[in-house]
Amino acid sequence: MSDGTIVINGNSHPFKPGQTILEAAEDAGIPIPTLCHLKGATPTGACRLCVVEVAGARNLLASCSTPAEAGMEIQTESPTVVRSRKMTLELLLSSGNHDCIDDGSVKDPKALFDARAEADGHSEHLCPSWGDCKLQEYALEYGATGTAYPKTPPLYPPELKNPLIIRDFSRCILCGRCVQACNEVQVNEAISHGYRGAESKIVALGDLPLSESSCVFCGECIQACPTGALVEKKAKGIWRPWDVETIRTTCPYCGVGCQQTLHVKEGKIVKVTGDEEALPNKGRLCVKGRFGYDFIYSEERLKTPLIREDGELREASWDEALDLVADKLKTIIGESGADAVAGVSCARSINEDSYQMQKLFRGVFKTNNIDHCART
Ligand code: SF4
Ligand code: SF4
Ligand code: SF4
Repeated sequence: MSDGTIVINGNSHPFKPGQTILEAAEDAGIPIPTLCHLKGATPTGACRLCVVEVAGARNLLASCSTPAEAGMEIQTESPTVVRSRKMTLELLLSSGNHDCIDDGSVKDPKALFDARAEADGHSEHLCPSWGDCKLQEYALEYGATGTAYPKTPPLYPPELKNPLIIRDFSRCILCGRCVQACNEVQVNEAISHGYRGAESKIVALGDLPLSESSCVFCGECIQACPTGALVEKKAKGIWRPWDVETIRTTCPYCGVGCQQTLHVKEGKIVKVTGDEEALPNKGRLCVKGRFGYDFIYSEERLKTPLIREDGELREASWDEALDLVADKLKTIIGESGADAVAGVSCARSINEDSYQMQKLFRGVFKTNNIDHCART
């Protein structure tokens, strides 16, 4: 229910009590650029990209942390706002290694970057984002080139030690989204802001590599990172958003049923992300759901049932295997009673399959000997 209206760019829009200007604008379909804002986490107003002009206010206000108030008159793209955003982007581009934008002399820097990515996506000189970067997107939109201020060279080398996550500190803009994703969304508390001033860095447990810290490799921080500072190792040089088909599905690992998006390229999964709109996980995944998709392509995968005969396994049809299991169960129950059998459902089963399994054992065989294998 609306508590009042605000005026955005000359038009009245209702807003809900407690909403920020950013949220009210989003509901009204008016885009405001953000880099540090993470939905569902405490607004920090750190990047200052979402500033708007509010009539009567002395300064531009960060829309992500300013509550909407009835009667407010807001401009989201006034010349002052656009100038401020461009300056913010220039400052961000001047710190670290943001070499995708060039110096403004290139007519179409995006096409140039894409051509470099196409030619050598695995190059260590190319930003690991491979073109999936909010900073690049906004820099191109607002005409920022990274030449307005003296460059501050990167202080820290990339961390490539673990098998799953690339941490390229030279592309980090210290927006803090990864820290919020880790601490507020996943509540893992593995990373935090470290050091001060020009030496600031996102650190894990006293500045250790992730693999030696309390990081559980859920990858939530990658999903939150708006630049090329955090990237899935397996997807680097392979995945770009416009190169893949996306398919919403249920994670195959456990009964929680997290909703995930498969990024499929030429018939193969090249990346997995959590679906931020869907329950029960609202975008969160664990290490298995996000990174454990290689088994699908394993040569060692069983493709048919196997029956053991004379100590050797042989391939069988599903009908033959199921008939054999049914016969054995009937014989054992007939000879020794229902409690002589037990069922263990696979941890990769969905909830519905596990439900049916327990129904079969309890309702048909009349035993409560059921369990769920927790290991995957
Ligand atoms: S992090 Fe973004 S802005 Fe920086 S080099 Fe990579 S693509 Fe460009
Ligand atoms: S992978 Fe997960 S636990 Fe590790 S730093 Fe990122 S969000 Fe935190
Ligand atoms: S690693 Fe990414 S999400 Fe974390 S502070 Fe740097 S740019 Fe932001």
